[in-house]
Amino acid sequence: MMEKIYDTIIIGGGPAGYTAALYAARAGLDTLIIEKFSAGGQMTQTQLIENYPGFSEGIDGFTLGDNMKKSAETFGAVTETAEVLSVDLLSTPKRITADNGDYFAKTVIIATGAEHKHLGIEHEDELIGRGVGYCAACDGMMYRKKTVAVVGGGNSAVSDALLLSRICEKVYVIHRRDSFRASKVYHEPMMKAENVEILWNSKVDELLFDRKLTGIKIADTQNGDTREIALDGLFISIGRTPESGLFEGQIELDANKYIVAEETTRTNIGGVFAAGDVRTKALRQIVTAAADGAVAAYFAEEYITENK
Ligand SMILES: Cc1cc2nc3c(=O)[nH]c(=O)nc-3n(C[C@H](O)[C@H](O)[C@H](O)COP(=O)(O)OP(=O)(O)OC[C@H]3O[C@@H](n4cnc5c(N)ncnc54)[C@H](O)[C@@H]3O)c2cc1C
Repeated sequence: MMEKIYDTIIIGGGPAGYTAALYAARAGLDTLIIEKFSAGGQMTQTQLIENYPGFSEGIDGFTLGDNMKKSAETFGAVTETAEVLSVDLLSTPKRITADNGDYFAKTVIIATGAEHKHLGIEHEDELIGRGVGYCAACDGMMYRKKTVAVVGGGNSAVSDALLLSRICEKVYVIHRRDSFRASKVYHEPMMKAENVEILWNSKVDELLFDRKLTGIKIADTQNGDTREIALDGLFISIGRTPESGLFEGQIELDANKYIVAEETTRTNIGGVFAAGDVRTKALRQIVTAAADGAVAAYFAEEYITENK
């Protein structure tokens, strides 16, 4: 029996994936989304999204994800709940092997996202959304005129601290070394901010909390001395891990394992596109993921037309 060949298969049902599905389905492409969990991706981990345009009161991530799924399905996109285990992107058609079977497509849109790195400290996961966060651009406003700390020493930690210094009363930066890895363009303005205090050679040893985070215990990495700091919020900004392992060896990845794709979302393989957090880009947010999804569907359609 001949296998069904989809016009496009989208791997990942976050905002990038479901926006790609919406645009692809509305363009008349036979579209399948393969998502291993529920719709929404990382958005499902947050109670309140205030910076996705159109929701003046904000919206919870689960509802926004579900709405994106419904929009795409209204136009005929189909969701398969399965985990993709391997891919052959060079074959014609392209083969996607999931835990429930093989799927075939003329084009593939990779929208598998990324994950914030965790400190791996006790109680961290249960305090997410209750004082512990990973994205200052997303949650910074929740700590207006309050005291927060940022953990990390790279570009994202330093730019998070600078952003928070404009919103919060006081910002500590906790870094385990005695200098930043961040480039000058980021850390010079932060060093000038009067409400930022840098705690060099320090690491977070313990999270202090009642119903939510109340502070942290930090340890000096040189002599082991500890002290407590009262906090309203802690932002862990120690990097992200892209979900790109499946594609390694076939698709070009950058030094941090993000898929190399320009604004067109085209990768080094014809008919394969990368959208959202998994792609090399400056700003990883819902709105930029959704924008990538739309662009990926546009170029997938173009690829199908040109390769008829
Ligand atoms: C706690 C938190 C709060 C945030 N708050 C905000 C905010 O307020 N505003 C904002 O703009 N951004 C926010 N972000 C960032 C935003 O959620 C991400 O930038 C956005 O979700 C990226 O979308 P994406 O579609 O690229 O990837 P993701 O949302 O990561 O979705 C990827 C999807 O792919 C699926 N997947 C991965 N591998 C496979 C596989 N092998 N098989 C099948 N499925 C697979 C995953 O299950 C996931 O559903 C927040 C992130 C977090 C973690």
